[in-house]
Amino acid sequence: MGFSDFLASLKDNPYFGAGFGLFGLGAAAAIARKGQQYAYVFFRRNFTMTLEVPSKDKSYSWLLQWIAVHSQRSQHLSVATTFRQRDDGSIVTRFAYVPSPGDHFFRYGNTWIRVERTREKQIVDLQTGSPFESVQLTALGRSSALYTRILEDARRMATRDTEGKTIMYTAMGPDWRPFGYPRKRRPLTSVILDAGVAERVIADVREFVAAPQWYTERGIPYRRGYLLHGPPGCGKSSFITALAGELGYGICVLNLSERGLSDDRLNHLLSVAPQQTIVLLEDVDAAFVSRADSPSTRAAYDGLSRVTFSGLLNCLDGVASTEARIVFMTTNYLERLDAALIRPGRVDVRELIGHASEHQLRAMFRRFYPEESEAAAGEFAERAAAHGRPVSMAQVQGLFMVYKTDPGAVLQNTDRLWTL
Ligand code: ADP
Repeated sequence: MGFSDFLASLKDNPYFGAGFGLFGLGAAAAIARKGQQYAYVFFRRNFTMTLEVPSKDKSYSWLLQWIAVHSQRSQHLSVATTFRQRDDGSIVTRFAYVPSPGDHFFRYGNTWIRVERTREKQIVDLQTGSPFESVQLTALGRSSALYTRILEDARRMATRDTEGKTIMYTAMGPDWRPFGYPRKRRPLTSVILDAGVAERVIADVREFVAAPQWYTERGIPYRRGYLLHGPPGCGKSSFITALAGELGYGICVLNLSERGLSDDRLNHLLSVAPQQTIVLLEDVDAAFVSRADSPSTRAAYDGLSRVTFSGLLNCLDGVASTEARIVFMTTNYLERLDAALIRPGRVDVRELIGHASEHQLRAMFRRFYPEESEAAAGEFAERAAAHGRPVSMAQVQGLFMVYKTDPGAVLQNTDRLWTL
């Protein structure tokens, strides 16, 4: 039997015949499927645009919010809870729905956009413990202007909520995280410093923020350091908060004596501080293990990294940023600070925020009791000063709170200032 006879006999065999047929069909389907895949890839490559936004990116949460608003009909939602502070100080909770992981479609103008929100099951962000996520937008077309418009839109929508507010950031691992709810801006007029102090600092900050060119042309790092020193309760923190509000800036608060804050981490944090923020280093005098600490205190903190003095100096010198970088430091004890820390370049402006002066006592009285005469304010200032003992503005505020509606009683009870 020749080979052709053999093939012919196979063809006659019903089982074999069916096998060949099935094989042929299967092969054709596979080719078609591959073709389809190629066509899809070709189509995606040439006619669609995708934008991937990972959860680490700043615009991620803005974008989710924006998508939730634009894809109203999506039925698969996750919840993101936010706090808002009302004008009277009370706090309301708001639930915002964001698209849940999976696919969603929505229309933006004339374009259909596909949203895929993916959540990695295996990979977890070690710093936050939250799973890695990303959103991917796919749209027809080839112009990235669409995405720029969407991201701009999303940013505007998100920042509308924080307008008129001051955002406080705190350091979490290597990142800055908004801390608490955005606070209502504190008006500058509510912080009463001695004559000229606030005006000098504000003028300096404004001049600095307006002069990036001056710094780049001279090759000087674009940063400026401020030191406010003086006894507690005299308005250092209040003034910085009000100043940030006035500039429309946030505040990144860092306590240098925090255990676990190493030189490297400090350096990193200073270089990644969000734009338009003031970095506030509180109580800089308390930052370092002092030689006066008893050996047992020092031993107790052994093994926990702390910022070293030279590390701090390096960090302050190294803060390089194209954005204006404003660093405020506060201390209750100027005399404890090393001269190396407060030399120009590290601290460019130094102001004493001291005990209440007569000017401050008068102005604070007028602010709390606007219907009272200038003479009454003068009398209060005189009486308070007559005791010959220093008084902080926090104490003055305390006294006024006791007699909210009774300025006459304030005048009679100035000696209560020192019991508060
Ligand atoms: P510091 O940072 O100097 O310790 P704070 O700014 O924390 O002081 O002030 C403590 C409290 O006292 C705040 O409630 C603040 O309203 C009030 N206070 C302190 N100084 C002033 C001031 N100069 N003007 C108005 N209020 C003040």
